[in-house]
Amino acid sequence: GATMAKSKFEYVRDFEADDTCLPHCWVVVRLDGRNFHRFAEKHSFIKPNDSRALHLMTKCAQTVMNELEDIVIAYGQSDEYSFVFKRKSNWFKRRASYVFYWRDYFEDQPLLYPPGFDGRVVVYPSNQTLKDYLSWRQADCHINNLYNTGTLAADKNEILFSEFNINYNNEPLMYRKGTVLIWQKVEEITTKEVKLPAEMEGKKMAVTRTRNVVVPLHCNIIGDAFWKEHPEILD
Ligand code: ATP
Ligand code: ATP
Ligand code: MG
Ligand code: MG
Ligand code: MG
Ligand code: MG
Ligand code: MG
Repeated sequence: GATMAKSKFEYVRDFEADDTCLPHCWVVVRLDGRNFHRFAEKHSFIKPNDSRALHLMTKCAQTVMNELEDIVIAYGQSDEYSFVFKRKSNWFKRRASYVFYWRDYFEDQPLLYPPGFDGRVVVYPSNQTLKDYLSWRQADCHINNLYNTGTLAADKNEILFSEFNINYNNEPLMYRKGTVLIWQKVEEITTKEVKLPAEMEGKKMAVTRTRNVVVPLHCNIIGDAFWKEHPEILD
């Protein structure tokens, strides 16, 4: 009967690779837009940095973080975002939110087709390797940006300044540094109706409560300063 049939076919289970992530390691998932060179062209992205697209990416990443509290930090630049998990979790929410929030950022530019993202999972065994991973992605942002903003030549900064009168250091931080998403506690003041005692019933009272929110930063993550300022991330 059905039980027999099931056990007959069950051998295919062995084809599932053991993809358990090594315990005690940081798990990083990096999503990168598929063929975004074309996607950007088709949707008239401003070159080399379309801030609408960067803000949309960050909105999506914030949405993902709010749904998955296991993510302790995220870093994004260009068409990619890296999410750092304390442990393995479900993260297939990205594409849906990109389409959902498109109109909020691109207004009258119609979405011609839904974007795709490839994803890869990598485990890093120590705090140092995780920091180095994030530094690597920020260095990539810097290199690509200087290249995209300028030319191929060796002294890009100098050429930018002398020939185009662009001081690279005055370019927006979001372009040069990418976006770091971290959790921060904020004090929120709300009003609450008083239940008791009877003579106070129905009156409104101000109460403060602390909430954890995801905030975007455009700071250096290369070097020690960031990690000294936010020791709780790697706790
Ligand atoms: P692949 O599928 O291999 O990732 P790709 O075309 O997505 O190919 P990437 O190396 O990921 O190539 O580069 C992303 C490209 O998308 C950039 O080179 C740029 O053309 C475009 N792009 C991504 N984000 C932006 C943005 N915010 N503003 C302008 N262009 C962008
Ligand atoms: P980008 O992330 O700049 O959009 P990409 O989409 O062409 O580039 P990916 O394959 O998504 O490249 O990898 C992301 C980054 O990792 C790139 O900067 C790429 O140069 C680098 N990279 C990919 N594979 C390797 C590797 N085996 N060794 C070193 N660097 C690599
Ligand atoms: Mg890629
Ligand atoms: Mg891409
Ligand atoms: Mg590529
Ligand atoms: Mg990319
Ligand atoms: Mg690159």
